Amino acid sequence: MFEKILIANRGEIALRIQRACRELGIKTVVVHSEADRDAKYVRLSDESVCIGPAPARDSYLNMPAIISAAEVTDSEAIHPGYGFLAENADFAERVEKSGFVFIGPRPESIRIMGDKVCAKRAMIEAGVPVVPGSEGALPEDPQEIIRIAREVGYPVIIKAAGGGGGRGMRVVYTEAALLNAVAMTRNEAGAAFNNPEVYMEKFLENPRHIEIQVLADGGRNAIWLGERDCSMQRRHQKVIEEAPAPGIARRLIERIGERCAEACRKINYRGAGTFEFLYENGEFFFIEMNTRIQVEHTITEMITGIDLVQQQILIAAGEKFTLRQRDVQFKGHSIECRINAEDPFKFTPSPGRITNWHTPGGPGVRMDSHVFAGYTVPPNYDSMIAKLITYGDTRQQAIARMEIALSEMIVEGVLTNIPLHRELMQDARFVEGGTSIHYLEHKLSQRP
Ligand code: ADP
Repeated sequence: MFEKILIANRGEIALRIQRACRELGIKTVVVHSEADRDAKYVRLSDESVCIGPAPARDSYLNMPAIISAAEVTDSEAIHPGYGFLAENADFAERVEKSGFVFIGPRPESIRIMGDKVCAKRAMIEAGVPVVPGSEGALPEDPQEIIRIAREVGYPVIIKAAGGGGGRGMRVVYTEAALLNAVAMTRNEAGAAFNNPEVYMEKFLENPRHIEIQVLADGGRNAIWLGERDCSMQRRHQKVIEEAPAPGIARRLIERIGERCAEACRKINYRGAGTFEFLYENGEFFFIEMNTRIQVEHTITEMITGIDLVQQQILIAAGEKFTLRQRDVQFKGHSIECRINAEDPFKFTPSPGRITNWHTPGGPGVRMDSHVFAGYTVPPNYDSMIAKLITYGDTRQQAIARMEIALSEMIVEGVLTNIPLHRELMQDARFVEGGTSIHYLEHKLSQRP
């Protein structure tokens, strides 16, 4: 087992990884920017190294600085968390070439899955159902693009092969708007992702976002750990997640889960991963794979009792990955609310000093957050300041506990989206379960 791991991330996930390491008896090194110098998890870590100024490109995205930090601290492995360099194949490669273990999949797997066109092709080969659309990237020929769109059928969505984080997508309803939309998405994709390749999919009008968690050892042992419903989204960003997904037949989930595990075996996938699907009229359609731990991994931990971050570390250390599918038992229901420092009506970020901070507790309540009273939310990064997670024997109980927890939580000094979450816990359609990915936007547009 590793003696020391370097955590190449910040905020709640840096703390989450630190906790997993401590439980395994592993020392931690946290790298941080100047803006995160005073964070509590930085002080709690066995060692810390400042790797640059606040802007992420100078610190959390600064590969040489991170690798030097691993060298000077004698770290053995690097955990990238999510975001930043977590899905950067070049980083994974440089980490390994420098003699450290990258806690994640092999660089090749990240590269294949990071290119959504390649990822889709690999999934088709592995027998995973995908959203109907263009076969690979769109060609240059305008007539050919028009022909493909007619074949797929409107509305279609143009997506960047290198896209991520909900960016680089455009929905097209009519042929008249098609070529312009393709050109615009290409331009954006070239500028934002350094890859102008785009592809086309049928735009599903009322799907749910359902994803499958997997763990695999890079060889024959691959298991799936149930699904998460992440349909409550705004601007393609998840707001609330829950597990299991309400109202979907278990045998359907089992079938798709098995396919995902089989796909992992086929590509010799190693570590934790997530297969994301759109689900409509009883059918699953693969959209992408995330080759890292996800923000919402917590709810899977709550219903399986399996610590996914520890499993990532065990797999990376080459310890025998002993979990088998029969060890994965699902119990109860879990919900996660992403608490963001933002205006709950206008959604503009609200960085600044947190003057008062009181967190909820009680049975079935889990709080993953790096924040404390007196903490300053820097303006430089994502606005998520906490993940509030509840567990219940039933969905109803998980919702009731979330309502209580949200009502107990006090955050002063910055605005948060807690009022929105409280509103959603009371929302008749949410309480019923099974809303589509467009529901939240629709609801917000009806606000007075
Ligand atoms: P990203 O990597 O940017 O998150 P995804 O491919 O995972 O991109 O898509 C993000 C979100 O965009 C999905 O959760 C869904 O809300 C929407 N979306 C993507 N593809 C489609 C599609 N074919 N039809 C309808 N909505 C889609």
